[in-house]
Amino acid sequence: MALQFFNTYSREVEEFEPRDPAARPISIYTCGPTVYSRAHIGNFRAYIFEDLLQRHLELRGYKVHRVMNITDVDDKTIRGAREAKVPLSKFTAQFKEAFFEDAETLRIKRADEFPAATDQHYVDRMIEMISVLISRGLAYQADDKSVYFRINKFPDYGKLAHFDLTQLQSTGRVKHDEYDKEHIGDFALWKAWDEEDGDVAWESPWGPGRPGWHIECSAMATALLGDEIDIHCGGVDNIFPHHEAEIAQSEGVTGKKFVRYWLHCAHLLVDGQKMSKSLGNFYTLPDLLEKGYTGREIRYALMRVHYRAPLNFTWDGMQEARQALIRTDEWLARLREKSRETSVQRSTSNVQRPTQEFEEALDEDLNISAALGFLFETIRETNRAMDRNELDASSANAWLDWWKRVNNVLDLETEAEVVIPAEVAQLAKERENTRREKNWRKSDELRDRIAALGWEVRDTNDGQKLTPRASSG
Ligand SMILES: [Zn+2]
Repeated sequence: MALQFFNTYSREVEEFEPRDPAARPISIYTCGPTVYSRAHIGNFRAYIFEDLLQRHLELRGYKVHRVMNITDVDDKTIRGAREAKVPLSKFTAQFKEAFFEDAETLRIKRADEFPAATDQHYVDRMIEMISVLISRGLAYQADDKSVYFRINKFPDYGKLAHFDLTQLQSTGRVKHDEYDKEHIGDFALWKAWDEEDGDVAWESPWGPGRPGWHIECSAMATALLGDEIDIHCGGVDNIFPHHEAEIAQSEGVTGKKFVRYWLHCAHLLVDGQKMSKSLGNFYTLPDLLEKGYTGREIRYALMRVHYRAPLNFTWDGMQEARQALIRTDEWLARLREKSRETSVQRSTSNVQRPTQEFEEALDEDLNISAALGFLFETIRETNRAMDRNELDASSANAWLDWWKRVNNVLDLETEAEVVIPAEVAQLAKERENTRREKNWRKSDELRDRIAALGWEVRDTNDGQKLTPRASSG
């Protein structure tokens, strides 16, 4: 079955047809963190969804080139640096570092590139794009010296958000500080320096200032991925105005369709409510780690609901995540033991060979709930077959191979040492004694017996090390 995604632009589930998958990787642009504080678990829900997307595309044989930007200059970062009385770059560095640390704990694959908005190379590109927009009448410098995008000149403005411009005109009063704009919906491309900005400023044809948030993404996305991108992701709160503005700016400059598929991740709620510091339900990753949960448990909890449905985070949900992973771990340990059995008993169960159901569920707009449903159904069925002694070693190996594929997408396997069966441990102990007695013949014999049980023993400076032998399939 073909891969399908819900495209925010069309509001429809569409068959995935990348531009040119034979000649180049799938290009994905994802809006990254604004590094003014530690990212919260709602942010990470979106990043985990994007991780799942990339890994599933890879499972389906695509190569992926993913870019995630770092917004390290905007109102919030400048305010934070001013309040902390440190230079902007020093202020943002700590949160960049925290972001990478958290992403690693959650096993999120690193993007191929993490461009930063303050990189002079990209600032130059932003300035260049703004100049083109001005030359085409799509942007203007207002009396306040800032440069704005003229949304009335871009007929498609509002298409992504399905937003009616006339509504925008009729809503509310023009804010005091925005009186210079021609239209209330016009957004800043270049913000003229004011004293609140301190020493944060770049030279430009319109005087000193800094780029607006939206143009940062347009510039970095097109610089690294070209004028046309296969997939652009973000949270639903990015749709308007951020992504709408990205389209207007990029297409205003290139004249080409900026993005083929827009994928947006729904909100995360905590106990049914929006997360907020005032409600005391605002969590970062270290908050959850402190409560004793592990990275993979949190990864599972943030991953298990379909990305377009709101995810309600609860402590019960965290416990369920823990239970689900214990079940998976125990199942894997059991399958591994089974796979090492040497009896010639044949499978009589109907679960002897894996099917494609897991990946087919993900093909349908990343239906993770269905995919996980199939995983746990599989665990139940194969456990039952093992209870009845109806599953042979070769079937167990087939399921372990299947799990390897599944785990390339989920990345939920424990990193803890594999459990050594009692019989193997006993033989290893005996061997230790024979070696102490320098009885090499006996020692080698025991090594062979251990090997027959599927384990390899190596002699190291720290004593014997036991590792499961690669299964013969
Ligand atoms: Zn963005």
